[in-house]
Amino acid sequence: MTKVQHGLRRKPDLESVYSINDDGSHNVLQPADVRGRWHTRRNVVFALLVAFYLVMPWVHVNGRHAIHFDVPHRTAFLFGSTFTREDFYLVFFLLTGFGFTLFAVTSLFGRVWCGYACPQTVFLEGVFRRIERWIEGGRNERLRRNKEPWTFDKLWRKVAKQVAFLGVVLVLTHTLLAYFLPVEELLPALLAGPADHWVAFSWTIGLSLVLYFDFAWFREQFCIVLCPYGRIQSALVDEDTVIVGYDEKRGEPRGPKGKAAGDCIDCGSCVNVCPTGIDIRNGLQMECIGCTNCVDACDTIMRQLGKPEGLVRYDSLSGFDGQKRRVLRPRVFLYGFLALVGASVFLLSASRRTSFEATALRARGLPYTLEELRIQNLFTIHVQNKSSDAARYRIEPDPLPAGSPPVEWNVASESIEVEPLSEAKIPVFAFVARADYQRRFPVSVRVTDAATGDVQVVELSFQGP
Ligand code: SF4
Ligand code: SF4
Repeated sequence: MTKVQHGLRRKPDLESVYSINDDGSHNVLQPADVRGRWHTRRNVVFALLVAFYLVMPWVHVNGRHAIHFDVPHRTAFLFGSTFTREDFYLVFFLLTGFGFTLFAVTSLFGRVWCGYACPQTVFLEGVFRRIERWIEGGRNERLRRNKEPWTFDKLWRKVAKQVAFLGVVLVLTHTLLAYFLPVEELLPALLAGPADHWVAFSWTIGLSLVLYFDFAWFREQFCIVLCPYGRIQSALVDEDTVIVGYDEKRGEPRGPKGKAAGDCIDCGSCVNVCPTGIDIRNGLQMECIGCTNCVDACDTIMRQLGKPEGLVRYDSLSGFDGQKRRVLRPRVFLYGFLALVGASVFLLSASRRTSFEATALRARGLPYTLEELRIQNLFTIHVQNKSSDAARYRIEPDPLPAGSPPVEWNVASESIEVEPLSEAKIPVFAFVARADYQRRFPVSVRVTDAATGDVQVVELSFQGP
């Protein structure tokens, strides 16, 4: 049991951010390794999420990539469904549903998103810190080597770590690129060199530099300084939210082993393993990302002392205070309801999407044309094929409402084939005898998908002098 604080410079307190020194420089943290049941569970979640991220660009559904964002065509392919720019409004409801679900989960279980599923945590804790440990050893070895003068051993480990970080970053950014440029096109594009794909190349290099800076150096500062979710979480939790906390009643008064009246022997293990460098015994803090490292560390100490686990544990402030925890509170209902509204509107709208869109435009600046005996209206029917297969459409006038004057139609193409994710424009002429016309009246054109029988009716109005 070593009683060593990060960097040996000062103890974490509530007055300052421990990972930022008094002069504003970065106090680079060296969290200790930890083992325990929560650590194992997190590793399983990390492995599943990293595997999902790496594998999805290779997975196909209905002959298309399961997840593909086709930016030039403003189209997204998601698990067999195609979303075009006309469906962009759905993003609002998707984000609303996701955002309020996150709020509801946070009010119930604290920062489980940060600890288990945020990409920053998943890649930093699940990949980069692991590489660091493989190459530079455990916390004490790293601290010792950092203080020593430069030797060949120190040099090659530092260089190898940075090279490995860069390699992983390039894999991550090229995997991200594969969600926008299908993997079948990505490899030839990489071999062809940057000149042919300079936009994608610039994005990839720029993002690689940002990620390298983040995972190699910035690290926990992202959660503490930049992440907006970290800023608002204090407004989302209350005394009944499950958080990672320290049982002060049981632990205090703390003291060295054999002399402490409480169960905390002030060993510092919970502080040494903390990736944001805080002391959980100081109470709930904004820097805590709910990673549970301190839970596993303290449980290990309690087992060694022959005392019950859970001095640091998942519980609510009410629970730590000996009160009963209320699970269902007004804020849980409110966030849950808003999440349900967002998710329901998204699912309902997504399920009602059609495979094509038919709209009409009247000839600009030309509401009608007068012939000797007739009035002519010209419309342009736009048929947009939103599916990933070519489709044939029938365009035909709809029966007229009762009391309308007779209309003579001239449809330029009564049947038309439209390429996948493309649109076609079909001129449609309507004629009414001048003697029959009294006032504007509604007419409509019916567009039918010849394969599926899906119909869209385009409402128009016939105008005359
Ligand atoms: S809370 Fe547990 S791990 Fe932390 S100092 Fe006390 S005994 Fe050690
Ligand atoms: S206080 Fe505990 S749960 Fe919070 S970030 Fe530190 S180690 Fe993780």
